[in-house]
Amino acid sequence: MSDYHQEQFKAIVLVRNHLKTLSPSELARLKARIRSYLRFRKEVDQFFRHRFSKVCTQKCYQNHYSACCNREGIITFFADVVINVLMSSGNEMDRLLQVLRVPNLGPKCVYLGKNGCLWRVKPIVCEMFLCEHARRAVFDKDPRALKAWEKLKRREKRYTWPSRPILFNTLETYFIQEGYASSLMYFHNSPGLMRVKALARKKGTKEKRKRKG
Ligand code: SF4
Ligand code: SF4
Repeated sequence: MSDYHQEQFKAIVLVRNHLKTLSPSELARLKARIRSYLRFRKEVDQFFRHRFSKVCTQKCYQNHYSACCNREGIITFFADVVINVLMSSGNEMDRLLQVLRVPNLGPKCVYLGKNGCLWRVKPIVCEMFLCEHARRAVFDKDPRALKAWEKLKRREKRYTWPSRPILFNTLETYFIQEGYASSLMYFHNSPGLMRVKALARKKGTKEKRKRKG
């Protein structure tokens, strides 16, 4: 198993095993935490279906090119895994673990199946990716689509950019407090993201002092 496969495999198993230990009410509480994010994802999905399905079908799906899904090219946050495991069936999880057990010798992402991505709620980086060709084909002709896209990108940050309390950090923190660790916990191990969090904390402290006078 490659390092990439191993860290993905371990994260999925870790989350899956932990969720099995939770009571129905604890599980419901965790699901409630991701409700607004799932609504956001639904809107992004609708946006793509409405604005991009034609261009993506012509460019990628018909010829199985799918440039969105290149081999080991994606960043998966730990929270992506948590959200996906929370929303997936046992069979869907088994399928992900199954593909990770086999070496990926092809040029495409290990999770790309015959009918598209095997994740139920695919990683946010994948969801928000748009190639230059698709951007130009749609946004050059339709400035309103561009505005709608920019709005969605701003909303994405409310879940994934740690200059304020965000879901993706909170989910990692929850698992850390439960005693787990994963190399995919970038909000707790990536120097860049840690710096953003430290700066936000510093700014928050300064503003508090100012308010106190
Ligand atoms: S965004 Fe670009 S690379 Fe991805 S499916 Fe659409 S056309 Fe293909
Ligand atoms: S995880 Fe899914 S959407 Fe992302 S690159 Fe792999 S197959 Fe494509």
